[in-house]
Amino acid sequence: MGLENKTAIVTGGGRGIGRAICLKLASMGANIVTCYAHGEKAAEETVSLCREYGVTAVAVKADVASKEDVEALFAEAEKITGTIEILVNNAGITRDNIILRMSDEEFDQVIDTNLRGAFYCLRAASKRMMRKRYGRIVNISSIVGVNGNAGQVNYAASKAGLIGMTKSMAKELGSRNITCNAVAPGFITTDMTDALPDNVKEQIAKSISLNKLGTPEDVANAAAFLVSDDAQYITGQVLGVDGGMS
Ligand code: NAD
Repeated sequence: MGLENKTAIVTGGGRGIGRAICLKLASMGANIVTCYAHGEKAAEETVSLCREYGVTAVAVKADVASKEDVEALFAEAEKITGTIEILVNNAGITRDNIILRMSDEEFDQVIDTNLRGAFYCLRAASKRMMRKRYGRIVNISSIVGVNGNAGQVNYAASKAGLIGMTKSMAKELGSRNITCNAVAPGFITTDMTDALPDNVKEQIAKSISLNKLGTPEDVANAAAFLVSDDAQYITGQVLGVDGGMS
């Protein structure tokens, strides 16, 4: 599973699942470039933890919803490490509300970050990966994009959209030795899910086959497999990491 001499861009690596993915890929030898829209300190913490594995790691201020920021992120990454072999589209937000109350802003913010942001990164990455005739892409979707969820019309649409993009990218880029897969986490304990009361989390755990919530490392392990050589014949797939929820 060696990723030595490869560079990975992992969006939103300051905390949660993104940080776990940065650390896992760094532990496998990959150089890491992550980005943040806010939270410079957390992102800097992530890259300094990555450097403990002896790799090059940098955090770049870039909002994935901004085309200019994403172009600058990729240019900066190339300047530092010369190449980009791996992209993990992880940055994501929620703005939950029932449809009757969901504002245009709540809808747009989620689509702009989770889907448009991924599109900008995929476009920037594919240009470079096609030249190299090598690439490994993982999009962090969600079980909500597969099954839907009340109160998350915007989020579900963005995560289902990511699955459509994943399958289309796999078909478009397969002949250039570029794989593109999605990971669909279930309920993972991070800041994103911490806001829920303990009794609600207990209820959720009971509804999961494995009777427990997942960890960011569970998702990172799946992403690491999909970017490794062991997964070289796997593309266009959606790998559920949900303890059997789906
Ligand atoms: P989190 O809120 O803890 O972390 C999200 C990260 O993305 C943060 O570091 C944040 O700063 C960054 N980010 C947000 N908007 C950004 C932007 N515009 N530009 C750059 N960076 C941005 O969330 P998490 O739980 O670690 O989730 C990570 C991914 O996994 C998300 O895409 C999320 O939708 C997905 N996911 C999470 C769960 C879960 O249960 N936690 C389940 C399914 C899918």
